[in-house]
Amino acid sequence: MAKKPAISRRQFVTSAAAVAAFSVLPARRAIAGMVEEVATLTSSPQNSVTLTDNPNWRDQGIENLAKSPHAKLRNIPVRAVTIQDGFWGRRREINVSRSIPTMHDLLEANGRMSNFRRLVHKSDAAQHGPVYSDSDVYKWTEAVGFVLQSGDRPDLRGTAEKAINDVVAAQEPSGYLNTYYVDDHTSLRMLPQTQTTGHELYNIGHMLQGAIAYYRATGDRKLLDAGIRFVDDFLIPNYGPAPRKPIVSGHPEIEMGLIELYRITGDKRQLDLAAYILQGDKRIELPERRTIYMFSGTPFTDRTKLEGHAVRAMYACCGATDYYMETGDDSYWKTLNTLWNDMATTKMYVTGGVGSRSDGEAFGDAYELPNFRAYGESCAAIGNMMWNWRMLAVTGDAKFTDVIERALYNGINSGMSLDGTMYCYRNPLAFDPSTGDKIRNPWYDTTCCPPNLERTFGSLPGYFYSTSSDGIYVHLYDNSELDWHLETGTGLKVTQKTNYPWDGNVEITVTPSQPTEFALYLRIPGWADGAQVAVNGKALADVKPGQYLPIRRRWSTGDRIHLLAEMAPQILEANPRVADDTGRVAVQRGPLIYCLEELDQANGVALSDVALALGKRPESEFQTEMKSDLLGGVLLLHHAGVTYERSASASTLYPRYTGATARTRQIALTFIPYYAWANRQATSMQVWTPLFKA
Ligand SMILES: [Zn+2]
Repeated sequence: MAKKPAISRRQFVTSAAAVAAFSVLPARRAIAGMVEEVATLTSSPQNSVTLTDNPNWRDQGIENLAKSPHAKLRNIPVRAVTIQDGFWGRRREINVSRSIPTMHDLLEANGRMSNFRRLVHKSDAAQHGPVYSDSDVYKWTEAVGFVLQSGDRPDLRGTAEKAINDVVAAQEPSGYLNTYYVDDHTSLRMLPQTQTTGHELYNIGHMLQGAIAYYRATGDRKLLDAGIRFVDDFLIPNYGPAPRKPIVSGHPEIEMGLIELYRITGDKRQLDLAAYILQGDKRIELPERRTIYMFSGTPFTDRTKLEGHAVRAMYACCGATDYYMETGDDSYWKTLNTLWNDMATTKMYVTGGVGSRSDGEAFGDAYELPNFRAYGESCAAIGNMMWNWRMLAVTGDAKFTDVIERALYNGINSGMSLDGTMYCYRNPLAFDPSTGDKIRNPWYDTTCCPPNLERTFGSLPGYFYSTSSDGIYVHLYDNSELDWHLETGTGLKVTQKTNYPWDGNVEITVTPSQPTEFALYLRIPGWADGAQVAVNGKALADVKPGQYLPIRRRWSTGDRIHLLAEMAPQILEANPRVADDTGRVAVQRGPLIYCLEELDQANGVALSDVALALGKRPESEFQTEMKSDLLGGVLLLHHAGVTYERSASASTLYPRYTGATARTRQIALTFIPYYAWANRQATSMQVWTPLFKA
């Protein structure tokens, strides 16, 4: 490729932008001057924005809600929880040892890093990948950031530092940073048309999230400062309400990034810009189908249903909930609840996946939840979890945690292979390998999902607990140790011992640094048929599934809580309006949705011919079998079923109805957890199984 002098790219600064960038510097210094203590600086200390020390960077969680006036719950830092050996411990170890390193190799092999290096003449490679390729690097950096928050890994940190240096070196003096809108594409930057499809601000949103996670792990603000330069020097002076140039969020994501940035800089202009973007700008006229698809470009608070591109919609909802937590704007809260109800009652798969249509990777109509053709992008399930995490922070309502758990254990966990190197983009609820569809792949040219899964598993400890003004909330269960403190400052350790999700018994030990009265809000999972809670052997009353049980008492060293959430196989029906599930049932046990894979059934049995044969006490007729040597260790469910012996007429498309009873043969059906599907040879799979009616 013909090298161009670096100056031609790096001098891409319109005179207006340059003037505006200078004009904003005094404002930045003024903000910096208001805070006496300077946060840890490891790069470019001069002109750096002062970041909050409340709390210190080490003590900030996935979101820093310490000063968010409308957040009831506050995040704990990822490092405060050590997930030990158990269900998530194994997944997280594979994430660190296999997924994140191999993804880095793939980012290199597919030109994602040379895209940055070529801009400073350290690579002769051509530009690779679609317009959103930069975000792959940023999401990977965020995954590393979360991993390092749990403890240093010098090799990984070294790899990330190199990547960050490559990224930052490519930033232009104006603050602009993008590896696609350079060279011949330079003139397209931030044009309305580019904003609708070009993902410039989407990339920066991910950059901000990656930079913040890395900063919270290491105190290193090099990437964060680059993000602040983009926002403060390039974006805010030039774009926003008139007379600045308009913005349309073609793929929501920047909103979340700006608000989290605001939470550490205290610079209200960043919050205001997010609000402006969430409301759209009438100066950019777009066809309605476009604003539906983008879930942006028109006022968020005018939305009445979830539609359009599912990941866009989920990220917009995340940004809008973040905005609500900072402002308490009622119109946002009303809209968010309307949208949540729309999703939870008509548009979410039983796996917590969302976005049923492959056409446009989009939400379908109400009850449009096909199985074979389900899209259920991994990123959309992750977006669903992130949104519910925010709704939970506002309310402390366990209905949001139930969705988090459903998505996490099923529609998200299915997205990464058990060996951590293959990923699903789609997460269908039925699959037939004869279509030729290859469901798991190590790499996608649009590789949004793999690093998204990696950052989610990296951040997982931060989802286990929250604090509130009166105590602590316990959200998720696995072998783990919390070492943190109450909001009053009293030190607190909480350990969990459990075989969750295979067993609903959880032993919790509470150890405050001194005897202290506070409330421990224990989540009683919504799926539990019943639950019992005892403190130091004494049973508590009013234990209700789907709620947090407040346990208010004077806690002292070694106090023990025993939770038993009754975990038995359950048979679920879908709302009758879900046409694909008519006459079918799904099987759930605890937080796990189960499925059938054809290779687990008796020889010669085709999944398309089987049905579940229910007796008089259907849910008690399952046999369970723990198989530690299968699929990383899974609890199998066995149940009686039948296979139809298809007559010759079954080969015709429309045989005449005869009224004859179908011939069947009794078989045993074997179910595996849905997350573990597609980890052996290609085989048929289904979540919703027909019921046999004798
Ligand atoms: Zn994706």
